Amino acid sequence: MSELTFASLALAEPLLRAIADTGYTAPTPIQAQAIPLVLQGGDLLAAAQTGTGKTAGFTLTILQLLLGKGPIEAKGRPRVLILTPTRELAAQVEESVQTYSKYVDISSMVVFGGVNIRPQQQRLYKPLDILVATPGRLLDLVGQRSVDLSGIEILVLDEADRMLDMGFIHDIKKLMAIFPKERQTLLFSATFSDEIKELADKLLKNPGLVEVARRNTTNELIS
Ligand code: AMP
Repeated sequence: MSELTFASLALAEPLLRAIADTGYTAPTPIQAQAIPLVLQGGDLLAAAQTGTGKTAGFTLTILQLLLGKGPIEAKGRPRVLILTPTRELAAQVEESVQTYSKYVDISSMVVFGGVNIRPQQQRLYKPLDILVATPGRLLDLVGQRSVDLSGIEILVLDEADRMLDMGFIHDIKKLMAIFPKERQTLLFSATFSDEIKELADKLLKNPGLVEVARRNTTNELIS
């Protein structure tokens, strides 16, 4: 059997070109499983840790889904929201969005706490497709009416277990009350506690399930 390729996952040519630039030759298991499932429009519950290629997986899928839509016009009203627990992860995710969107006309930005909010507010005052955010700063920006979440079509919760460990459940509940009911939601978590299952029950509708082992587990054990 020939090796699975990115092209066989029905990704558009400008995305395949951006992937080729990174040097990746084949999708990782989570990419191979999650990309077709999410492209069909369904929700996703994924058990995947850092190191599996999950970030490129959801980023590429989101970009592919956005390619079919016209340009966004409203200012500060993103179509896609990616929530992450930490500023470091938020910055990494935004970097991944930049990497794979370099040949397409899709805009993104990242917001997180611990830095001045004003420049973020100014940059939000423009049309925006994808917003990557940590929960606390996002709520501050919503409170100040710098961002409008009523246009969210795709929501991603990355490292949801870490978000709960870090005490973000109240922020997430506040945000859940604001998100549009009609949307596609993807939830990634390394572990599945009762709390995560409860959150997944509330956020996801008939999700497709994907579970992958960590990449390079053997190497990590012996290193
Ligand atoms: P993540 O699980 O998203 O933190 O990604 C882990 C690492 O895998 C990152 O350094 C990515 O650049 C890399 N990566 C993502 N997709 C692939 C792929 N298809 N082939 C090889 N490496 C990849």
